[in-house]
Amino acid sequence: MSVLSVRAPLAWLGPGRLVEDALVVLDGGRVAYAGPAAEISVVVAGERGAEGLSGRAAPPQADQEIRFDGFVMPGVVDRHVHIGLSDPGAVLAGGVVAVRDLAWPPDVVFPLAEASETTAFNGPLIRAAGAMLTCPGGYPTRAAWAPSGTGLEVLGAGDAAARAADLLARGAVVLKVALNGDVGPTVTDAELVAICDVAHQAGTIVTAHAQGRGQAARALGAGVDELAHCPWSEHLSDELIEAMARRMRIVSTLDIHSGGRDTPELRTAVDNLSRFLAAGGRVAYGTDLGNGPIPPGIHVGEAFHLYRAGLGPERLLEALTFRPLAEGEPADLIGLARDPREDLGALGEVRLVVRGGRRYR
Ligand SMILES: [Zn+2]
Repeated sequence: MSVLSVRAPLAWLGPGRLVEDALVVLDGGRVAYAGPAAEISVVVAGERGAEGLSGRAAPPQADQEIRFDGFVMPGVVDRHVHIGLSDPGAVLAGGVVAVRDLAWPPDVVFPLAEASETTAFNGPLIRAAGAMLTCPGGYPTRAAWAPSGTGLEVLGAGDAAARAADLLARGAVVLKVALNGDVGPTVTDAELVAICDVAHQAGTIVTAHAQGRGQAARALGAGVDELAHCPWSEHLSDELIEAMARRMRIVSTLDIHSGGRDTPELRTAVDNLSRFLAAGGRVAYGTDLGNGPIPPGIHVGEAFHLYRAGLGPERLLEALTFRPLAEGEPADLIGLARDPREDLGALGEVRLVVRGGRRYR
């Protein structure tokens, strides 16, 4: 695999690492160097004979050098998509280098996730939950958007544990459970606890679709680690929000309630999220791509909702990304026309996309 270097006047390499005249060297699908371009010339000079200038080995010589006149940052990660309802190529071209699919038939999505690990795949790296665990007749078994097999019905704690373990064995990186009391029955407490226990014993997490009165509190109590949507169907008490902030992460998906418009559901969700953030809670960018008219690629509208909920520029970039650009990390980066810390609209001006060390845009 070839060595690619990207040099840009400004780069955000990760939390607290804003660098002017930055250089990122990518080798073999990994970052070989990310930092000030000036530092690397010192290292290279050191290699040539001036001993002791730096203890670091010089990165390999680049086969291809890109001079990018804009803002470089790690690729964006969308933690809530249904990739089967979108175009993977458009997702990647729009700056999203990795996605987490939160419910699709396992026979379809797990092979797709495996295929996405090769550089021949024109799309983001796909990680998947497989089917959404639910009860007989529960959400999403009758949802219009969900093909047969998107919901996996469990009956009893033993059955719930067995089916959860089976999903993990087939490649699920997270377990998704439906707690949607607004549209039908939900799993029992015993089933919910069994699913959480299986996930935690395997070292992974449970994410929940919590909708309807009391479901967010129930998720917290049972040990669910993450909410796949910021709660929008009820105003959560400060007490509950504070407890959630200590133990849970929220995936935003705010624009599904909005589509650019102000709605009561959006207001409730933004209010819940702003108090959650003020209490120290962690939020991850997620769009629920596939649900309605969410555009593929970085969704500027979702970023603006996060901003309104109280995320400053630095925390916003953190919520949008996963790993920093640093030695040994995945060779995934994007280039924007301008600095998004000054104008979030820049997130819609993706000019360069590199995934796995290969340039896609
Ligand atoms: Zn979804």
